[in-house]
Amino acid sequence: MTIKAYGAHAGDKPLEPIDITRRATGAHDVRIDIAFCGVCHSDLHQVRAEWAGTRFPCVPGHEIVGRVSAVGPDVSAFKPGDLVGIGCIVDSCRGCDECADGLENYCDGMVGTYNSPTPDAPGHTLGGYSQQIVVHERYVLRIRHGEDQLAAVAPLLCAGITTWSPLRHWQVGPGKKVGVVGIGGLGHMGIKLAHALGAHVVAFTTSESKREAALVLGADEVVVSRNAGEMAAHRKSFDFILNTVAAPHDLDAFLALLKRDGTMTLVGAPATPHPSPNVFSLIAKRRSLAGSLIGGIPETQEMLDFCAEHGIVADIEMIRMDEINAAYERMLKGDVKYRFVIDNASLAGDAASAGG
Ligand code: NAP
Ligand code: ZN
Ligand code: ZN
Repeated sequence: MTIKAYGAHAGDKPLEPIDITRRATGAHDVRIDIAFCGVCHSDLHQVRAEWAGTRFPCVPGHEIVGRVSAVGPDVSAFKPGDLVGIGCIVDSCRGCDECADGLENYCDGMVGTYNSPTPDAPGHTLGGYSQQIVVHERYVLRIRHGEDQLAAVAPLLCAGITTWSPLRHWQVGPGKKVGVVGIGGLGHMGIKLAHALGAHVVAFTTSESKREAALVLGADEVVVSRNAGEMAAHRKSFDFILNTVAAPHDLDAFLALLKRDGTMTLVGAPATPHPSPNVFSLIAKRRSLAGSLIGGIPETQEMLDFCAEHGIVADIEMIRMDEINAAYERMLKGDVKYRFVIDNASLAGDAASAGG
């Protein structure tokens, strides 16, 4: 079945309408009519081939929400009409220790929602900038928010879980002082979630214009990181820092803010490396520098349920599908508060190109 999508044919080409197909609904498959899809900075990195290994045509999008339209005969947990989400993972080996632990994000056989090998045409997965998706039931998330919040739930499927997983793993909660660096799509969710978990939250931004807004998001304090004096006031005081910045920068400036045994976890994935941190930044206070990749399926459901219970959604700006190229340019300038979300119904009006 042919459906409409938006994608790029090369890293230096803009996104444009293309026709794609989805597989027939298999025994364990859930077919979803996509209502909204968030726009992650990883979409931009990959569709522009900034990371190695982009397969073209590339249809990005891994913050997917919508309604079940059909299920295979062996699916019992979902039925047509259910509100569901798909994040960054659509399959994994299902046999390794990581899969057994519900950490499919660390499975060597993880299949990403786009840009991963698959038997389905055209040989790699195609993401949520499209009208429908078909996914094995194991990787389908249940959405318990009200339908009126559906668009603002979409960014939880990547920005939410990518910040939730490290906040939980490093046991952020009451009595902990936590920094969130970079107040974009991920960072604004990091602030909301760390605040809801009961931590004392300090937001770090390069944008003077986000100072007040970060407080509204739930930060207890805001530091404009270009200001050395403001940074120095927080030296050796943090238990944990979550760094979401999408560009290379000086990590030592933030490591110096960790107290003894503190950890800074990198989730931002810039196209070129950070300058190497100074080893003395680490050994001086037995500090750790770590990384974290999205999150597993059970913890993604846990995060969605936590957000539904606490009334947490993303702050979004809705766009039509044909506004995506302009949205990327604005995202690069930090000109979005804080996540673009595509109204996938706008795809219906697009004439698909003959080139597919
Ligand atoms: P985003 O919305 O563009 O936010 C990135 C933020 O970084 C900006 O808002 C900005 O915050 C800060 N920043 C400072 N200097 C920058 C610069 N020169 N260029 C760009 N940003 C700069 O991006 P996002 O969607 O949150 O994603 C952030 C990064 O995480 C990306 O690299 C993305 O690929 C990666 N990511 C990783 C995972 C994972 O599993 N580890 C998952 C999803 C995304 P201020 O204005 O506050 O300074
Ligand atoms: Zn993402
Ligand atoms: Zn596995």
